[in-house]
Order: sequence, then structure tokens, then C-alpha cells
Amino acid sequence: MAGSLKPMELACSEDPWDAAVIGAGPAGSMAARDLAAAGARVLLVDRRAFPRDKVCGGCLNGQALAILRSAGLGDLPWRVGGRALGSFRLGVARRSVRLDLPAGMVVSRSRFDAELVATAVAAGATFLPGIEAEVGAIDGAFRRVRLGRAGNERTVRSRVVLLATGLGSPGLRDGLTPRTRVAAGSRVGAACLIGRGVERYEAGMIHMAVGKVGYVGLVIQDGGALHVAAALDPGECRRLGGPGAAAAEVLAEAGLPALDELTTARWRGTPGLTWRTRPLADERLFILGDAAGYVEPFTGEGIAWALASARAVAGPALDAIERWDVRLVGEWARRHARVVGRRQAICRAAAAVLRRPWLVRVACEVVSALPGSARRLVECLNAPPCFPEMS
Ligand SMILES: Cc1cc2nc3c(=O)[nH]c(=O)nc-3n(C[C@H](O)[C@H](O)[C@H](O)COP(=O)(O)OP(=O)(O)OC[C@H]3O[C@@H](n4cnc5c(N)ncnc54)[C@H](O)[C@@H]3O)c2cc1C
Repeated sequence: MAGSLKPMELACSEDPWDAAVIGAGPAGSMAARDLAAAGARVLLVDRRAFPRDKVCGGCLNGQALAILRSAGLGDLPWRVGGRALGSFRLGVARRSVRLDLPAGMVVSRSRFDAELVATAVAAGATFLPGIEAEVGAIDGAFRRVRLGRAGNERTVRSRVVLLATGLGSPGLRDGLTPRTRVAAGSRVGAACLIGRGVERYEAGMIHMAVGKVGYVGLVIQDGGALHVAAALDPGECRRLGGPGAAAAEVLAEAGLPALDELTTARWRGTPGLTWRTRPLADERLFILGDAAGYVEPFTGEGIAWALASARAVAGPALDAIERWDVRLVGEWARRHARVVGRRQAICRAAAAVLRRPWLVRVACEVVSALPGSARRLVECLNAPPCFPEMS
């Protein structure tokens, strides 16, 4: 019977759901998987058809790898053709410093995210790709979720809704309590793939160039292409004629090898990168991953934060399915601060330093003279968080 129904009708025929998860990036898929594995009836919805690409460097740090292991998914990055990363090279003002990484891998986001969705489905979640969703109003012991667009929409009900829609929190309708705010002067994200000239960039290493208009991260992916991801000042980007020209300027300023293809590559962009949503929960609604707020991605932590917040939300979400209690709003804020908030504070400080290339140059000199201090910072950013009830 299910096979003869269209996806949205299928979702309606199973109404009401225990949990509706909006957005199937790392945050949404991991949360859907944990809830389904705990016995909840879970609907996972994404507006894009899968596999889908994502503006991202695709680097998994030690924290992300540890969280995957804690979920029994330690082999997932290898299954999707991930490559190990052993070092990090920072280039600024024609000087460079190299650090060893305690752990790290680079993956293709389209393959990684599709595989994570597959694990959620294997755990029992129902996945609807290609369908936009929006958080709706409270309806008795449920929250409504609108599926599809005006003219072809359906409404389902769910005991709890998880919003994991990424940057900007799309899907959060006006009129709901949580509000998003982009930080003044926020940089925008941009990414592309380069096929030629990549031999000048060593594999197994994250190359990072810092300049006045932003910074650019480069890493060789599975298949040998060079993945380029950047955080750029939007005004300077326009003045220079686009992200390719801005990225080329950053590489030249930092002294990293030039890449002719940068200006002709197909770039994809994001809205402002540094922003936040507050509060992080409302009645029968929890917000996680980038949708909860984000800091410039210099340290490649976003996927770890998404996975960490997904694993941490499972406890409050299961409680909410059982019985809604207003105290869960504060409980989620505290948990989120514990697993993500402190690490974002470190990245906010790093982002402030990165806006001053002279300060980065000083930091490089300190790192060259005292490599132990940098090692400790890298270890701190890579340390796995602790999830008492999910271990
Ligand atoms: C330039 C750049 C480089 C980066 N490099 C790295 C890196 O190297 N390492 C790292 O760890 N992090 C990196 N990040 C950050 C990382 O990409 C994000 O933190 C991570 O993807 C967040 O996961 P998420 O699940 O919260 O959101 P996303 O991965 O953005 O997933 C959100 C999903 O929600 C879906 N969606 C949105 N709106 C709706 C809607 N209304 N209805 C249904 N579905 C919807 C989207 O289609 C998407 O699939 C980078 C980010 C940028 C911008």
C-alpha cells in the first residue's frame, strides 16, 4: 500500500508522528537515526533531492570522528571514500606554519550526507527528499508541520519537531518565538572544485590561506580534485568581481600556489556565516546544528557541532515525545551550551584574530616558537564531547 502512495500522502497516512525532523544534513540525519533507534516513529524531510551537494570543506575533525564512533558509525567516512588528513598548513603574508593534526578526514559531503540518511532509514526513519517543510503551530499534544509549497501542501502533526535546516534556519515561520540574527559584518561562504594545477597542493593536508578579504581552505578530496572553501567579505568579493577573484587574491597575499581555474570555476555561496537563533527551543520544538547558530568555519568544526547537537538532543526529544514539559526548553539550552557553545566561543575568538592578518602573522611566529601551545589548542578543539545517556 505504501508503494502506491505519493511521498506527501504517505507522510499524511502515518500521521501523527512521534518526531518530525526538518533538514537531512548531519544534524537532522543523526538525530533522526538516534530517535528511530530508540523506537520513535520518525519522519525526516529535506527540500533537496539526495544525494545533494553542500557548500563545505568536507573536513571531519577528531571530534566529528569520535562522535561517529560513539554512534557505531566509525567506518562511515571510509565507506564513502574519505581520505585521512594528517596536517594543517597556515599561510599568511607569504609565511607559513605547519601543524600535525591528531585526527582528521576529508569526505565528499554529497556522499557522506546521503550515507548518513541511509543509516537513519535503516534505523526505521521515513525519509521524504525533495519536500520543503515549515514548522507550524501547536495543535493539542502535537506541533504541526507544513509539507510542500503553497498550492500543493499538506500538514502533518508530530509530538516533537526538530529544526535542522542549516544556515539561516529556513523553515522557521515568522510568528514563532525563536528569531535569527546575522552578526554585523558577517562573512559569506563560497566553495568550488578545481581539477587542474592541484599537484601543487599536497594531499592529506588542510591548506589554509589568510588575507585581508577573508580566508580560503584547500584540500585534496577522494578522486584527486581540489576542494576550495572560503569565508569572504561580501563587499570586497563584489568589488573584486566575485569569489574566484577574491580567493585568488587571498592565495597570492598568503603566498600559496596560484590556481588559474579559480576565476572560471563554478562557485556556490551561502548567506552570512556568523549568526544565531534564540531561544533554541519552543513548545515541542528543538533547534539544532547550523540552524541553532554558526561561527565562521575556519577550524572546520561545523559537522562536529551538528553531530554533537544531534546526539545531545535525543534525550530531551524522547522526553518531549513521552510528555511535553516546559522545562525542556531550558534543558536544551543548557545541553547545547555544554556540547557546542563553549567550542563556538573558541572559534569566535579565532575568527576575530583572522580579521587581522598582522595578528595571524604574530600567532604564526608564536606557534613556530612554541609548537606545544598550538598542539594543545588543536587537541582541545578535537576532544570529543560527553553524552551521558547516549554512550
Ligand atoms: C565555506 C564553508 C566551509 C565549511 N567547511 C567545513 C569543514 O571543512 N568541516 C566542517 O566540519 N564544517 C565545515 N563547514 C560547516 C558545515 O558545512 C556545517 O556546519 C554543517 O553542514 C551543518 O550541518 P547541518 O545538518 O546543521 O546543516 P546542513 O548540512 O546545512 O543541512 C541542512 C539541510 O536542511 C535542508 N533544508 C533547509 N531548509 C529546509 C526546509 N525548509 N525544508 C526541508 N529541508 C530544508 C537543506 O536542504 C539541507 O540538506 C563549512 C561551512 C562553510 C560555509
